[in-house]
Amino acid sequence: MRNLRSVFNLQSFRCNQLEAITATLEGRDVFVLMPTGGGKSLCYQLPAVCKGGKTKGVTVVVSPLLALMKDQVDALKNRGVDVCLWNSDTPQEESTQIQNRLVSNNRPMLLYVTPEKLKSSESTRRLLRRVYGEQGLARFVIDEAHCISTWGKDFREAYRCLDTLRDDYPGIPIIALTATANQNMVDDIIQRLKLKDCAFFTQSFNRPNLNYIVLPKKGKMIDEMVTYINREHPRQGGIVYCRSRAKCEDVAKGLREKGILAQHYHAGMASQDKEETQRMWQQDSCHVIVATVAFGMGIDKPDVRFVIHHDLPTTFDGYYQQTGRAGRDGNPSDCVLYYSYADFGQNVKLFEKSQQEKPYEISRETLRNQVEEARLIMQYASNEVTCRRVLVLQFFGEKFDPALCKRMCNNCASHELLVEENLTNEARAAVELVRTLADQNLTTDHCRTIFRGREIGKKGPFGHYPFFGAGKGMSVDLVEQMFGKLLVDDVFEEKSLKNVSGWHAMYLKVDSFLGYSKSSY
Ligand code: ADP
Ligand code: ZN
Repeated sequence: MRNLRSVFNLQSFRCNQLEAITATLEGRDVFVLMPTGGGKSLCYQLPAVCKGGKTKGVTVVVSPLLALMKDQVDALKNRGVDVCLWNSDTPQEESTQIQNRLVSNNRPMLLYVTPEKLKSSESTRRLLRRVYGEQGLARFVIDEAHCISTWGKDFREAYRCLDTLRDDYPGIPIIALTATANQNMVDDIIQRLKLKDCAFFTQSFNRPNLNYIVLPKKGKMIDEMVTYINREHPRQGGIVYCRSRAKCEDVAKGLREKGILAQHYHAGMASQDKEETQRMWQQDSCHVIVATVAFGMGIDKPDVRFVIHHDLPTTFDGYYQQTGRAGRDGNPSDCVLYYSYADFGQNVKLFEKSQQEKPYEISRETLRNQVEEARLIMQYASNEVTCRRVLVLQFFGEKFDPALCKRMCNNCASHELLVEENLTNEARAAVELVRTLADQNLTTDHCRTIFRGREIGKKGPFGHYPFFGAGKGMSVDLVEQMFGKLLVDDVFEEKSLKNVSGWHAMYLKVDSFLGYSKSSY
């Protein structure tokens, strides 16, 4: 407790922190599954600086991201903590110094190493064994522990070398931490690290201070964003995520032209420019950072008041992680997602393209999984009825009572205004129409036009088809939404056909159809 205040300048523990710290100080193996922003770092940084307890010596932290380690090491140094960072780029002189210190009595409290350094260098292992022999290792910390599991997308080859930590250093406690792991992965991680009688800490992934807002995307959304920012978060810090580098630059420029202090940030920039942009944003001299998803890992800005997804994310996990960067200080913050069916289609096409380009790296099965995940997030976005928290937490296998959302999602907030419109008959007619048109090499757009009772130029005429004009009474937007929903729900499928001028023809895939309703306000 004394260290919490004096070293880390914090007032009290958050959920599971004290419990995890106590367990590791008692010399137990510990597994911490905590959402991003939950405060995992403290669970190993605080015990590392504690004198007393059953453990003493150096806390060795293995973490996959060098940039993240550097930030943590700098922050700890600023707090007066004795800490070293050791990776493959560490200059010889500094390496020698670290090695000398590890075997002296004046050891650092924390040693951050990359898995690559542990794996590739025999001398590192020899040295650690020597320190171990002198009872000088307090514990191993495996940060982002999901990287060790081949179940996950983030599997890291170098993390494999951690399989032998337990045998190489018997009796040294291990603490594994991650923000993302389902039960299979948890079991896998425990097995690989050979954790014994491990103290397991998990908590709800609900972030009660985040307001989930999902809105349909129309055009570039610049004016909408400017209005929203000026109204809800003037001069406050935020992130806008975009799909591509070019888009980041374009959107940032658009925002600047309307008077918002915005800068783009992506991997194509010189590292100096990136650092400068990040620094300005962290010091609030730039308010909004417009970035690709590469931005954010390991960035610790507690008062991000909004995260906007300008384009539909490709995975739910990514969406959760990125939205999780808002409101780390616990104050109310917004997560805004703009979605369109076109975005979903584009995501699918991008996956298909990279699979075609790299058929040996990306299997057909991987492609199928990618499409399924993209579909999941599209279904989440286009659901205008169910509490968004229920849907987000469902992804993590968590049941959530929507009454506890407290109108902190736009579906709960607008519930009273909701009128459900049953479109099952219209959707059925659309399915029948598309079925009869299946061999005509038509695009989705053609089908929508015919559905609304219009001919399509040279092709046709289609007036004599049984469901021609079945959607006459519907607006263009509603027809587009309904067709989009049928696509996302896998009732329709779009396929590219070379002979249809680069467009996509629509085929009927499944015969059965259950029912469809659209909610409107
Ligand atoms: P994670 O690694 O789980 O994403 P971090 O360890 O980076 O989370 O912590 C997220 C933020 O929460 C940081 O700004 C950190 O200073 C803050 N934090 C952590 N523990 C506490 C606490 N007990 N009280 C207040 N703030 C905390
Ligand atoms: Zn809700």
